[in-house]
Amino acid sequence: MTLRYIVKHPDPVLRKVAKPVTRITPHIHKLLDDMAETMAAANGVGLAAPQVGILKRVIVVDDGEGIIELINPEIVEMSGEQDGPEGCLSIPGVTGDVKRAQYVRVKGLNRDGEPIEVAGEGLLSRALQHEIDHLNGVLFIDRAHTLYRTDAPQGSEKPVKARAVRADVVQQAFTKQGSVIQGSVNQGSLPLESTEKASQVKSHDLP
Ligand SMILES: [Zn+2]
Repeated sequence: MTLRYIVKHPDPVLRKVAKPVTRITPHIHKLLDDMAETMAAANGVGLAAPQVGILKRVIVVDDGEGIIELINPEIVEMSGEQDGPEGCLSIPGVTGDVKRAQYVRVKGLNRDGEPIEVAGEGLLSRALQHEIDHLNGVLFIDRAHTLYRTDAPQGSEKPVKARAVRADVVQQAFTKQGSVIQGSVNQGSLPLESTEKASQVKSHDLP
């Protein structure tokens, strides 16, 4: 197994729609093995093939109950709602609160090409939705209603850089200096609260 490089936002590969796997080959097995190892090394809950630069519909998820491998995953049922924190190995230093379905049922193929179904709620459901989003070029920052910086030192006046997130998300999330801090999810985090003050922000020069 080999650790693969995790592509970081805003690499355009993260915005592409991944292609279905049409044939299970040794390359797919190697990809699955490498993705599982790469996810574990990064302490991730999930990883999608585009995150290692491969535009194929392959994901791995590990919510602590063992690794789930899915080829060509498709959500066939979703219900309920949960609202909670999310991060992404491709977007270091940023977390966000995202509303997701509480329960999903997903069908796909296992590494032998056999049809399987995975159903889960809570974290597993969230991880499955997040990873399947990756296959469609969708990132959690597109869905987050609130974004937080986790790599800014507490009390730092260092401006939040637009590099980490989509520019229009940053514009919505920014408030003028001094009104940015509105409570903290994680120790030392600097929340970016999305507020109606977005219109004020538009005239504010972003880095
Ligand atoms: Zn991700």
